[in-house]
Amino acid sequence: MRPGRVFLSGLFFGLISASYLAGQAPAAAPGSLRSVEGLSARFRVLGHASVYFLYQGKSIYVDPWGQQADYAALPKASVILITHEHGDHLDRQAIGKIRTENTVLIVTEKCNPAGLNALAMRNGEKKTVQGIEIEAVPAYNLANKRPDGQPFHPKGEGNGYVLTFDKKRVYVAGDTENIPEMASLKEITLAFLPMNLPYTMSPAMTSKAALSFQPRFLMLYHYGQASFQELKGLLQDKGITVLEP
Ligand code: ZN
Ligand code: ZN
Repeated sequence: MRPGRVFLSGLFFGLISASYLAGQAPAAAPGSLRSVEGLSARFRVLGHASVYFLYQGKSIYVDPWGQQADYAALPKASVILITHEHGDHLDRQAIGKIRTENTVLIVTEKCNPAGLNALAMRNGEKKTVQGIEIEAVPAYNLANKRPDGQPFHPKGEGNGYVLTFDKKRVYVAGDTENIPEMASLKEITLAFLPMNLPYTMSPAMTSKAALSFQPRFLMLYHYGQASFQELKGLLQDKGITVLEP
């Protein structure tokens, strides 16, 4: 068995046994979900770039990824949103474990919507799905590029999503830098921003991104080595509550 497998099975066991010890269904347990003031949807980051929302009994997933959670043990999805085609964001196996015939799967054109039997959304498009208003917004690199000069995330290909729950807007940024379009995001109650170089943002870039649209609450997700404390320092006394990861 490869060392990576030992680690992952240990992680799964840890997740599952913690839920069982609490006497609750894995991950859907209300006690394991987070909430912020004014937002009726509850949420949880399921590791990496995966976010789960529970809203009016419906489970909404963004970028489910099987290496960080056991999706077979999680609630079936009403809606699944995929931000782009990279393997740690578009995981067909994880999707298969939470998808039912009633699940709405939303992807980008590059994810091959026909092959996935999914709906594609482009930057700027809006749809109301299962009573939830969803807007696809741009997500791309300006500065960070591959050695061949191509951005990791070219403009126009990937989506971030703004979800409206009871008139409160939640922004899940996807793999993006602090792009100028963020400044036109209005009245965001809760934002999920990434912070991992070289693919997305440094703490300085993430703080600039947040300051450009001033969400009430900021949840860091999809972050690596870069320091949470550094970001927190940069956003001190700026009117944004930075949630502990
Ligand atoms: Zn990516
Ligand atoms: Zn990514």
